[in-house]
Amino acid sequence: MTWDLIGHQWAANILQQHILSGSVRHAYLFTGPEHVGKHRLALQFAQAINCRETSVPGVPCGQCRSCTLIQSYRHPDLHVLEKEEGRTTVRIEQVRALQYSLSLAPYEAERRIALLPDFHEATYHAWNALLKTLEEPSDRVVLLLTSPSTDLLLPTIVSRCEVLSLRQVAPSVIEKALAHHEGDAAEIQSATRLAIGCPGLAISYLEGEALQQQYGYRDDFFEWLQAGTAERLRKAETWMNWRAGFPQRQSQVKALLEAWVVLWRDILQQKLRQTAAPIHLEVLPELQIITAALETTQVLDQITRIEQALEELLANADPRLLLENLVAGFPAIPILSHSE
Ligand SMILES: [Zn+2]
Repeated sequence: MTWDLIGHQWAANILQQHILSGSVRHAYLFTGPEHVGKHRLALQFAQAINCRETSVPGVPCGQCRSCTLIQSYRHPDLHVLEKEEGRTTVRIEQVRALQYSLSLAPYEAERRIALLPDFHEATYHAWNALLKTLEEPSDRVVLLLTSPSTDLLLPTIVSRCEVLSLRQVAPSVIEKALAHHEGDAAEIQSATRLAIGCPGLAISYLEGEALQQQYGYRDDFFEWLQAGTAERLRKAETWMNWRAGFPQRQSQVKALLEAWVVLWRDILQQKLRQTAAPIHLEVLPELQIITAALETTQVLDQITRIEQALEELLANADPRLLLENLVAGFPAIPILSHSE
């Protein structure tokens, strides 16, 4: 019996050892890229700490009342502190409410568990309030924080946590874990490559239309590259008109640009003759044509322009203008070009 994780077994081993040796810390911070598995690890750890029916100590059984309640976030001793709907940060009042709950004895578990996902998205006052709990820890409370990086939190918070830094998971590990997932082998391989080491992302690509949407972004990319300037702008207008209100247009353009960065990086990798397989392996011939038509500096320039546009988008720039500027500045690909 092992922890139900995709990768990160080293982290599970450390946490299991803490349980077995009776040295579970008062606070942990799991860092790593979005969708790499921080939250899943934290939840499994919460289960492992409180599971009383496991045949392997330190490994959650996943079946008992405690494990299933934690898995579904319904355990009375599990507290999840997240941003309220419509807010961009966790507020100090939420931390205070959590502190009150944690001050009470657990209902039924060995310890109360506080899960604080993406705690970098809290206000400064909320961070400071949490420090009090970190400085005066209770033996019956474990705090589990997640954040992409330690740099995004107060150093005083980080120094009071046991930090486990999760890294991207090897594609072979993700692909194997997804073998029984919905989708054929080619789709699973494609989702795995697109996920760039983040299992949660690979899973989300295999659900609904997410993978088809990525293929759509790629088709759009090739069409825009092949088109002449006037057609590029017309296509940008049509593309934007599909998207309704501003918030949705903003997130749609963000997703499109992020997909393009991956495509340009594939082209750069071809340009630099790196041996790793491109993420968009299915369209290698097209990538090779574009690679042959461009200089390395042109490819780098496109990546820089898109990354700048993504920053401007975050700063609430007009998505339509950004998209129009970007496609107008695409390099001409003579070999692919059949219009204008
Ligand atoms: Zn259990």
